[in-house]
Order: sequence, then structure tokens, then C-alpha cells
Amino acid sequence: MAENDLRKTVIELETSLQNERERMRSLRRVALRALAVLSAREPDLEGAVHDLTRTIEEDPDDTQCLDRMSARLADTIRQHDQRDAMEGGLLTALQSGLEGFPFLADDLAKVRQAADRGDADLVRRSLTRVFSALEENCGQALAEREQLTEVMGEIRTRLDDVDSALSADHDHSERTRASIRELHNNISGDVSSIKGRVIDITNIDTMRREVVQGLDRVADRVKDFRDTREAELLSALERNRALRTRAQELERQVAGLRDSLSEARDEANRDKLTGLLNRHAFDQRMAGFPADGGPASVIVWDIDHFKHVNDEYGHTSGDRILKAVAEVLVEGVSEPDFVARYGGEEFVMVVHQPLDIARDLADRLRQEVASIAVRAGKKRLNVTISGGITEMRPDAPEGAAFELADKALLAAKRQGRDRIVAVAPA
Ligand code: GH3
Ligand code: MG
Ligand code: MG
Repeated sequence: MAENDLRKTVIELETSLQNERERMRSLRRVALRALAVLSAREPDLEGAVHDLTRTIEEDPDDTQCLDRMSARLADTIRQHDQRDAMEGGLLTALQSGLEGFPFLADDLAKVRQAADRGDADLVRRSLTRVFSALEENCGQALAEREQLTEVMGEIRTRLDDVDSALSADHDHSERTRASIRELHNNISGDVSSIKGRVIDITNIDTMRREVVQGLDRVADRVKDFRDTREAELLSALERNRALRTRAQELERQVAGLRDSLSEARDEANRDKLTGLLNRHAFDQRMAGFPADGGPASVIVWDIDHFKHVNDEYGHTSGDRILKAVAEVLVEGVSEPDFVARYGGEEFVMVVHQPLDIARDLADRLRQEVASIAVRAGKKRLNVTISGGITEMRPDAPEGAAFELADKALLAAKRQGRDRIVAVAPA
């Protein structure tokens, strides 16, 4: 890696680290604002909110506080027995607390629309999405920040090594220049002294002897100088070799760290529980869609009565079901088709098929989910899923197909669940 590339890498990494820091800072600000409004509106949450506010304010370097915050809030909300009343309060809290945060904007807008229409189902779904997005984003910011800090730390240490080796080299060449100056001065001194001695000598033999002795002194001096230089040269060569090895080592390390950074980024695109792509990754993939212009359909999935499963059999069994459903869905698609966990118990799938074929595929997957049994203690549980599907139009605005499929999903729920509802694109 040339020195320039290295410098560019360092600058790039430093910029990303700075961005991450700013992102963390604004996440923290938003969190504090949301917490303040939340505790004012929801006395039931005051305890949890108070603790978290203190953690965030008192220990700004505690990078996991946001993680804990979203997890605790989500849990409290999940467990809350007056869910409906709470969601009304939360709605206002979220609107004033989380406003102005780009990655939440769409979801918050949907919450508002749903609330204006008085659609409690949709309010609940959209609120869940707001929390998932917040949780996912915090986790990702933290993971990337940690990795970047580590990379920067390593690079700084390595660069310090190289720096001190280079300055040793610089000192050495300073010394060499000084000793050459000294040699010049000495030789001119010797020559002047020969001149001085021979100027009055008339005997040619005496003169020759004086000149030869004088020249011998010069020759000795040059030899001494050469010997010292040779020794210095050898040690400089040695130092250069060491420097080169260190530079190669640095190069290898930077490459390794880059790899682990990109691994961390890959990880940030995965949902931890199911291993599927997460919402962030889904949004990114959808931004450049459709790539080849061929037909493609989008399916939004949601597990039926999942809250009941959690309430009845516990969160661990709920998680097991989530994993089992994710497995069926991911087995059902292969590249370039893909499936992501959109948040909570919702999944979203893109298949490169026209609507009728995609609908048949979705229905097969629905039946397969209904046929699996998941262990919960001594019992074996069955779950069903509903899906809404539509075909994507290349000229439709971004997100339009998802919206339609999402509406179709709501229709599937209203028609009794465990079914697929397809809508033709507008
Ligand atoms: P519907 O058929 O209308 O979709 O009803 P539902 O009960 O599935 O829908 P609701 O949105 O009321 O409940 C979703 C539940 O999903 C609530 C929440 O506890 C649960 N949930 C969300 N994420 C997770 C998770 O990661 N693990 C577990 N175990 N449960 C989760
Ligand atoms: Mg559900
Ligand atoms: Mg849901």
C-alpha cells in the first residue's frame, strides 16, 4: 500500500469515526428529549425513564445506554396492561420527542396518519416499527463506532512506530552531513599545514617526506571516515529493513482491520435473533430496485396473534417461533430474491416473479409455516402467518409497492388471518 493510500485510508476512517460520534450524540439528544416528554406524559413509566435519563446524562461514554433504553422501553410497553391507553400517550410523546430524525420520519408520519384516521391497529403496528427502527439504529451505530475506534487506535500505534523510525533516520542523516563537513574542514586543515611546512624547505627529499607524511594523515582521516560511515550505513540499512517490515505489518493490519470493519458492517445488516437481513439492509436494497427491470413482487408478512403466544407461553417460546418462521421464509427464497425481518414479528420479501406466480409461492410458504410445530415446554405450538402481496412497478415512487402490500396485509388480517391477499399495483 503506498503511503498516500494509507493516509487516505486513515482520513476516511477518521471521518467515519467522527460521523459515528455525531450520530451517537444526536441519538443521545433525541433519546433525552423523548424520555423527558415520555415521563411527563406517562407516570407509569417514570421509574424506568428516570433511571435511564440519569445514565444517559451522567455517563456520556456509556455507549450501551441507548441500547438498554430502547430494550427497556420496548419491554415495558410490551408488558404494559393498559396498552391502548398507553399508546395514546406514547403517540404524542413520540411525535414531539422523536421529530426531526430522518430514519424515523416515515414511520412517524404513518403513526400520525393512522391516529388521524382513528385506526388503532395501524397505530399499534406503526409504533412497533418506530421502536424497532430506533433499536436497530442504536445497535448499528454502537457496533460501527466500537469497530472504528478499535481500528483508529491500532493505526495510531502503528503510525507512531513508523514515525519514530523515520525520525531516527532523519537524525542519522543530520549526523552524516555534520561529519562530512568536519572531514572537509580537517582535510583543508591538513593541506594548509602541508603547505606551511614545505614552503621553506629546499631539500627535495625532506620536502617529499613531509608531503608523504601529510598525505598519509589525510588518507588515515579518509579511511576513518569511511569506516565510520560504513558502520553507520549498515545500521541505517538494518533500520530501513526493520522499517519496511513494520510498514508491511501495518499494511496487513490495516487490511485485516478493514475486513473486520466490513464484517461488523455486515453484522449490522443482520437481525441478531433470526440472522435475516434487517430493516436497514432491506431499505438499502430497495433503494436501487428493480435492478434488471424484470417483474418482481413484494410480500409483507406478519405472524398471527403473536402477542397471545408471548403472553401464553413466554417470550422465549415467542423467540423460538420467530426463528422457525424466519427459517421457513428464508428457505423459500434464493438470490436475487430475499427476505428481511422488518421488525417485531413482521417480515418482508422480494421475489423476482410476476404477481400470480409470487402469490402461489407465498401461499405455499404460508401453508408450510402452518404445518410446523415449535416446542414450548411440553407443548408443541402451531402458528400461522398472513401476507399481503403486490407487484412492483418500475415507475412507481419509492416505497409505493411496500405500502400497497402492507395494506393488503391488513386486509388479510381483517379477513380472518392465515391467508394471502394480493392487490394489483395501482
Ligand atoms: P395480529 O394477528 O393482528 O398481527 O396480532 P399480533 O398479536 O401478532 O399483533 P401485535 O402487534 O398486537 O403483537 C405483536 C407482538 O409481537 C407484540 C410483541 O410482544 C411481539 N414481539 C415483537 N418482537 C418480538 C421479539 O423479538 N420476540 C418476541 N418473543 N416477541 C416479539
Ligand atoms: Mg402479528
Ligand atoms: Mg405486527
